Amino acid sequence: MVLPGTQCAAEADVIVTLHQIHACSSGDTDAFGNESGPVCGGCLESMTADVRAYVDRLRAVARRRGGVAACQTCGAPAMHVSDVIRDVRPLK
Ligand SMILES: [Zn+2]
Ligand SMILES: [Zn+2]
Repeated sequence: MVLPGTQCAAEADVIVTLHQIHACSSGDTDAFGNESGPVCGGCLESMTADVRAYVDRLRAVARRRGGVAACQTCGAPAMHVSDVIRDVRPLK
């Protein structure tokens, strides 16, 4: 999961914190396996839609295996959008 804000030219509205599912010990992440970055409102919306599709897919795969969707690196649940988008902090 890549922060689209890094390619966004618009003025940022929020700082979003994403759990780097399956890659949360990659070294670019904080102590909790998260990465934060500034994004605009439009990017946040499309990011939320992407994350929703992503966790839906993880859940479907997990269901076939009879388990629950989780980050393979740290075991944190990855069932809901809020499991990936950990925090959204308004800048204004
Ligand atoms: Zn944007
Ligand atoms: Zn993790």
